Amino acid sequence: RAKQDGRGIYRFFENAMGVEVRDRRMLEHDLRHAVSRNQLRLVYQPQVDIQSGEVTGFEALVRWKHPERGEIPPSVFVPVAEESGLILQIGEWVLRAACSEAARWKSPLSVAVNVSAVQVHSPTFAQTVHEVLISTGLSPSRLEVEITETALIRDMMRAVTTLRQIRALGVRIAMDDFGTGYSSLANLRAFPFSKIKVDQSFIRAVDNNDQSAAIVRAVLGLGSGLNVPVVAEGVERAEELAFLKSEVCQTAQGYLLSRPEDIRTFAAVTEGRTKLLDSIMPLPLQAL
Ligand code: C2E
Ligand code: MG
Ligand code: MG
Ligand code: MG
Repeated sequence: RAKQDGRGIYRFFENAMGVEVRDRRMLEHDLRHAVSRNQLRLVYQPQVDIQSGEVTGFEALVRWKHPERGEIPPSVFVPVAEESGLILQIGEWVLRAACSEAARWKSPLSVAVNVSAVQVHSPTFAQTVHEVLISTGLSPSRLEVEITETALIRDMMRAVTTLRQIRALGVRIAMDDFGTGYSSLANLRAFPFSKIKVDQSFIRAVDNNDQSAAIVRAVLGLGSGLNVPVVAEGVERAEELAFLKSEVCQTAQGYLLSRPEDIRTFAAVTEGRTKLLDSIMPLPLQAL
C-alpha cells in the first residue's frame, strides 16, 4: 500500500511538472507575438506624497491579455520573458509606451518603469533609454527606472556601467522591493540608486508588528542618511499610512490610495486640474 501511495504521489508530481513545462512553452510561444498583436497594455498606479497628499508620479505596470486565457499577471509571464530573452523586446515596448504616455501629460509628473536585470545586462540598454527619451520628447528628469531583485550581481561591472550611463542621462534609478531577495545593502552601495522602495511585505501591518515597524524605521533612517527618498509600497490600510506619516516617510503607493488603473482614470491629475486623487485620496489622508 505504501508503495502504491508513493507511486501515486510520484505520478502526481510528474504530471504536475509536465503540465507546467508545457504551459511555459505555450506561454513563451504566445508571448512571442504579444507585442506585435497589441496584447500588452500598461496600467498606472499613483505615487503620493504622504505629507501633502499630492500625486508625484505614476508607476507603469504591464498587463497581458491572452486571446484565450484572459489576463495573465506579470508575476507569471515576466519570468518566462526573462528566461526566453523576450523581455528585451517587451521591456523596450513598455519603456516607449510609458514615456510617450507621460510626454502627453500637461503636468510634469514622473513615470516609473520596471526594468528587468536582463535589460540592465544588455550592452545596448542605456542607448535604448536615450533613444526612447529623444523620440518621445520626455524630459529625462521625469523618468524613473525601477530595478528589482534578481541578480544585478551576475555581471556587476556591466550593470554598474549601464546604470551610471542612465544616471548620466538624468534618469533616476529606484531599488524596488527593498529588503527582499537581492535588493540588499551591498547593492545599495554598489549601484547609483536615487530612491528606495520598501517592499510591501514590511508595510503589511507595520502599525501593529514591532519587527516590521523597526525595519521600516531603519530603512527610513538609511534613506535619510544616504539622502535617498524612500517610497512605501503596498499601503492597504489607513493605519499603515498613519504610521508612515508619523515616521516622516515621503511617498506611498498602494491600494488604499489607488489600484493601478488605465491612465484615463487619472485624467484630472495628468491634465493638471488637481494634484489630489479625486474622492479616494483626500479621505484616507484627512482621517489622519
Ligand atoms: P512591483 O514593481 O513591485 O509592483 C508592485 C506590485 O504590487 C504590482 O503588481 C501592483 O499592482 C501591486 N500592488 C500595488 N499596491 C498594492 C497593495 O496595496 N497591495 C497589494 N497586495 N499589491 C499591490 P503587478 O502589477 O502584478 O506586478 C508585479 C510585479 O511584476 C512588479 O512588482 C514588477 O516586479 C513586475 N512587473 C510589472 N510590470 C512590469 C514591467 O513592465 N516590466 C518588468 N520587467 N516587470 C514588471
Ligand atoms: Mg516596481
Ligand atoms: Mg515592488
Ligand atoms: Mg515586486
